[in-house]
Amino acid sequence: MSYLVNLQCHDCGSSYAIDKVQTFCPDCQAPLLARYDLETARKRLDRDEFRSRPEGMWRWREVLPVHKSENMISLGEGDTPLLPLPNLGADLGLSRLYVKDESLNPTGTFKVRGLSAALSKARELGVTKVIIPTAGNAGGAMAAYAARGSMKAHIFMPKGTPRANIEESRIAGATVVLVDGLINEAARMAGERAQAEGWFDVSTFKEPYRAEGKKIMGYELAEEFGWNLPDVIVYPTGGGTGLVGMWKAFEEMEALGWLESSSRPRMVAVQSDGCAPVVKAFQESLTRCDFWTDAQTLASGLCVPKSFADQIILEDLRASNGHAVAVSDSAILEAQKRLAQKEGVFAAPEGAATLAALEQLVEQNWVDPDERIVLFNTGTGLKYIPVS
Ligand SMILES: *Cc1c(COP(=O)(O)O)cnc(C)c1O
Ligand SMILES: [Zn+2]
Repeated sequence: MSYLVNLQCHDCGSSYAIDKVQTFCPDCQAPLLARYDLETARKRLDRDEFRSRPEGMWRWREVLPVHKSENMISLGEGDTPLLPLPNLGADLGLSRLYVKDESLNPTGTFKVRGLSAALSKARELGVTKVIIPTAGNAGGAMAAYAARGSMKAHIFMPKGTPRANIEESRIAGATVVLVDGLINEAARMAGERAQAEGWFDVSTFKEPYRAEGKKIMGYELAEEFGWNLPDVIVYPTGGGTGLVGMWKAFEEMEALGWLESSSRPRMVAVQSDGCAPVVKAFQESLTRCDFWTDAQTLASGLCVPKSFADQIILEDLRASNGHAVAVSDSAILEAQKRLAQKEGVFAAPEGAATLAALEQLVEQNWVDPDERIVLFNTGTGLKYIPVS
């Protein structure tokens, strides 16, 4: 069913076995990436057959890491709509503008794709207790999938995290610890607890399979565009799971012989100017990000001062001839209004940030009027409504 064969360190290329719980390469302190037997898969799989399967992320199980279907933990994630944005497109002079609307996922964000893949694989390997540091949405997603998979979830989140994330985690039975600090401090504390208790740490990229779930966004886009990838993808970047995952998906699909052309999308990473380590490193031609001090943005999913996969994010952006753009929180709020008023999409601030960034790209003539441009709305605005 799955063509998964091993895990490979991004830095040194060392191979790691898939039949036990893995984290990251201890020698390089670098992420492990899932590798599949794509040569055999190429001979056996027909890309056009996937469309006829029941909807959802697990349609693509051959390129997901779970071997036995009884281990899949699913709540109906994936196969989100790709909506044309004709009104905003007209305003911006763009004829083929779209949003991939991830707000329709369970728990209202795309984080479920990663957590569905990671917890399913963890369950397959016998894990029963999981722990995660999170800026918010990953915690809510993990709580739901842990509940569904009969696992115990421990969640460490900054105390300024949106209220919805705290409540959705608690009601699903997770233990929530509110941390005085940002996600990096939450990660430090969660790491210590994981060690002390023997719980499995599902931190972004310190666990190999969340990126596998998120890469399926790339497979869906390819199918939606008739196996001719779009020209530009604008992605709100925190830990970078989706960006790295989709780029990996494009490589896999090329190896599978599924793509009509070898041209790949230009990937644009969007961050808030209150926390823009990727943008800074991209502009300064660095291969790693500096830790962003005093990070602050209302787009909580983008409040990641340094991603564990910073090197891969920067590599992929450059390989794609892409870009990195910072936008202000006030521009995000303005864009959030425009998306709702012009197109009826109430986006999370992270998703709205992609529209604010696109406006900069249009001004700079970095995009052409007839290019196929995809914004990613990664969550619903409903989770961010302030409560008093
Ligand atoms: C986590 C999150 C992001 C950032 O996603 P990465 O793949 O980790 O870069 C963007 N938007 C929302 C709503 C999020 O929850
Ligand atoms: Zn290594």
